[in-house]
Amino acid sequence: MSTRLLLATRNAGKLAELQRLLASAVPGVEVLGLRDVPEYPEAPETGATFEENALLKAREAVRYTGLPAVADDSGLTVDALNGMPGIFSARWSGRHGDDEANTALLLGQLADVPDERRGGAFICAAALVTPEGAEHVLRAEWRGRVLREKRGSNGFGYDPVFVPAGLELTSAELEPAEKDAISHRGQAFAALLPVIGKVLGGR
Ligand code: IMP
Repeated sequence: MSTRLLLATRNAGKLAELQRLLASAVPGVEVLGLRDVPEYPEAPETGATFEENALLKAREAVRYTGLPAVADDSGLTVDALNGMPGIFSARWSGRHGDDEANTALLLGQLADVPDERRGGAFICAAALVTPEGAEHVLRAEWRGRVLREKRGSNGFGYDPVFVPAGLELTSAELEPAEKDAISHRGQAFAALLPVIGKVLGGR
């Protein structure tokens, strides 16, 4: 019998990334997205941290669907902006999910910041919540620096302006599988996979 696991996200890029990771690492688990379950009202992300937001999203998904659920919350923290956009990354320009406007605003804010102070990190918190009440959350970071202009067409969000530490390519110039292997989300989910295997295996 296959176990069903819900990935509580509507972001097609994220869903594809997470499905790839989970499908190969946790065999026998059918991975569903929010489009595969009846629609439910999603509460705003009111948590003060990435971890809180990931847990809120996973708990809500379990409450409405009765399925074990995984959710993530992620964003870009920029050192010169005291960690912002942070948990506000998706709506930095005021409009949720407007990648173009969010990136343009960030580049404008950093226009006078010299190259040696353009460091930052993508952060991802990944949470697993089950209908039985088990809760796990963990966090990973992917250090890098923010460029002055966009390069590359893969990925989403701030990928075209983020150069991971140790690389010359932006994360939008990496192949999807290359990004998965090293990204904040890849790391967070790699760490959560054994937990998922253990928790779902023991149900
Ligand atoms: P979330 O959907 O609330 O987790 O918000 C994530 C937001 O952070 C996205 O809309 C992007 O702006 C940014 N972000 C998170 N992960 C990435 C990534 O891997 N690449 C580019 N931008 C990202």
